[in-house]
Amino acid sequence: MDKPLNILYLEDNPQDVELVKALLLADDLSCTVISVESSATFVAALKRNDIDLIISDYSLPGFNGLAALKIASETMPETPFILFSGTLGEDAAIESLRNGATDYVLKHRFKRLVPAVRRALIQAQERRERRRAEETLRLRNSAIEASINPIIITNSLQPDDPIEYVNPAFERMTGYTAAEVMGRNCRFLQGRHPDLSGIASIRALLREQRAGQVVIKNYRKDGCLFWNELHLAPVQDVDGHTTHFIGVLNDITETKRYQEQLEHQAKYDFLTHLPNRSLLYDRLEQAITYAQSYQRGVGVAFIDLDHFKLINDGIGHDVGDQILTIVAQRLKKTVRAVDTVARWGGDEFVVILYNLAQDDILAHFLQNLLATVRQTVTVEDREFNLTCSIGLSLYPQDGRDMAILLRSADAAMYRAKEQGRDNFQSYTPEMHERINERLTLENSLRQALARQEFVLYYQPQIDLRSGRMVGVEALIRWQHPEMGLISPARFIPVAEDSGLILPIGEWVIRTACAQNKAWQTAGLPPITVAVNVSARQFSDKKLAMLVAQVLRETSLEACYLELELTESLVMHNAEDTIVTLRALKALGVRLAIDDFGTGYSSLAYLRQFPVDRLKIDQSFVQEISTNSNNTVIVKAVISLGHSLNIDVIAEGVESQAQLEFLHTHDCDEVQGYYFSKPVPPEQFIEVLTGSRYNGVA
Ligand code: C2E
Ligand code: MG
Ligand code: MG
Repeated sequence: MDKPLNILYLEDNPQDVELVKALLLADDLSCTVISVESSATFVAALKRNDIDLIISDYSLPGFNGLAALKIASETMPETPFILFSGTLGEDAAIESLRNGATDYVLKHRFKRLVPAVRRALIQAQERRERRRAEETLRLRNSAIEASINPIIITNSLQPDDPIEYVNPAFERMTGYTAAEVMGRNCRFLQGRHPDLSGIASIRALLREQRAGQVVIKNYRKDGCLFWNELHLAPVQDVDGHTTHFIGVLNDITETKRYQEQLEHQAKYDFLTHLPNRSLLYDRLEQAITYAQSYQRGVGVAFIDLDHFKLINDGIGHDVGDQILTIVAQRLKKTVRAVDTVARWGGDEFVVILYNLAQDDILAHFLQNLLATVRQTVTVEDREFNLTCSIGLSLYPQDGRDMAILLRSADAAMYRAKEQGRDNFQSYTPEMHERINERLTLENSLRQALARQEFVLYYQPQIDLRSGRMVGVEALIRWQHPEMGLISPARFIPVAEDSGLILPIGEWVIRTACAQNKAWQTAGLPPITVAVNVSARQFSDKKLAMLVAQVLRETSLEACYLELELTESLVMHNAEDTIVTLRALKALGVRLAIDDFGTGYSSLAYLRQFPVDRLKIDQSFVQEISTNSNNTVIVKAVISLGHSLNIDVIAEGVESQAQLEFLHTHDCDEVQGYYFSKPVPPEQFIEVLTGSRYNGVA
């Protein structure tokens, strides 16, 4: 015992007080004796609250030991109480013990007092410790009971580790009551599809009797799966033997689900749910490895939707996204189950064709992909007719590794674009050169505007009845410092893909209008200048505003400007085209459909388009008299135009024979080398005075 004990002694006889003090001090009990002699001083002393033991005489003046015992056991029930009396009879002694006295010692046997005090103190100490232990136990128990984490205690001393305890949280989480699970082994939580790796980890912990954490698939009573992050810890007895295991369960189903979602997102495209690039790489790698081992082929088809930017920019990304999703699903249905369709990004997809055998099957397969994309897509009650361009590369002949195969397929896809889209091309080695060339072209194209390398050439358009020149078409040329004069057929597609067509197109409109106004100012008879507008410009919401602004700036009357739109462009999304065409028409400009006959026009739409002219594509004009098919088409276009009250102009007229045919069939106007090649403005006056077309009519 560390601190000195306070012993309270109730005694009216001073000699006895001396005796007790002497007895206690003689022993090595370190204590202070506080003596009191009346009930009042006794009560006051008890209030100090630091009394470790009470010794009391039995008979006191106006007070007695039993009364003192009563007071003490009410106020300090823990404190040992020893009666020390010379007069105590056996009855009183028994009664005092019954009333809670710890012991009694007769005064003439005073030597027994010190051992009695020692005994009483030890007992009191033990009682206090027991109580404290009980208190702790109770506290821990209620903590376990109140814990929100399910807790299981199993008994390791009995066979098959039966459950000995589960807390209410366990009951709540698993749906099993404590009574249902008591005495059973925990394996009932593993359901019908045991999570073998989890079980193995648990077994290892149990065998090695150590603490650890295991994530395991468990099932609730209703059969519902939950992911359990289980903390297991052994409980050892004093000898270090494991008697129990405590398991704390943690439902991490949500976390696990989130994790899975993240993993999915890392591998699948968010919009279309197709494999993304990273999963594509994995699969392609696998396909190549497989093909190497079994001497098989792998096909990589690079698919790019044609003019998809028009939809995205013109109609909105929402609709664009929905279309992509639909196309993605259709592509997936078109391929075999073993093949992979992945989203490369934007409107580009890649198909991996595994285990290829014959090439003819491949062609058939690619035709199917083209046909799939051609199927009308309906979004928000609107119909969209898409096409795509596909490039194909094959393992092993076109590349022995993934990167080369993909690059080759991409190059072939570009070739398909150049071939007029809606077709597929297989890779050939020259394609790489073309790609490089294209990149070089794009780089210098970026600077061409600022360096004033563009020029407009003009080609006359002649009215077949009057023989007079009624208009000119402005055709852009690029005067490249090293490469010389580059034709628009080469650089316009590059400008469209890179977006450079917008500033270039703006320059064309502005220059053509200014030139036309200049001719008028110079006193020439007023004519129309026709400007080609590309798909990208047409889908730009600001086109009408730009045209209006240029007309204002150049003071050209709107009726002397004509915008040429290609047939495939206007038919691509006819509903929106009508709206844009009307906005342009409202400015007073003329509208023409270029390359007519090549783009599957719908008559129903054509009727609604406010167009002034159809331009028969030069491919029909060229073989006009030799190819009967073309003869029919040209005649049909002329009569179609006239039935809709639209003028028809034929382009690419090179010969007298062609001219005569067109004249005979009532074509309104013509344009072509027969009269003049496109010429720079400074030569234009020369053309005007040239003889050729004075003699037409
Ligand atoms: P397009 O609008 O159909 O232009 C007619 C093309 O046929 C021009 O080629 C013209 O030079 C050519 N051509 C005219 N008469 C004859 C002929 O008798 N025989 C033959 N074989 N060809 C003839 P060009 O100038 O090379 O332009 C090619 C295409 O580039 C144009 O086709 C047009 O789509 C586009 N383009 C030209 N200038 C512009 C422009 O400023 N903006 C845009 N967006 N596209 C342009
Ligand atoms: Mg044109
Ligand atoms: Mg044309």
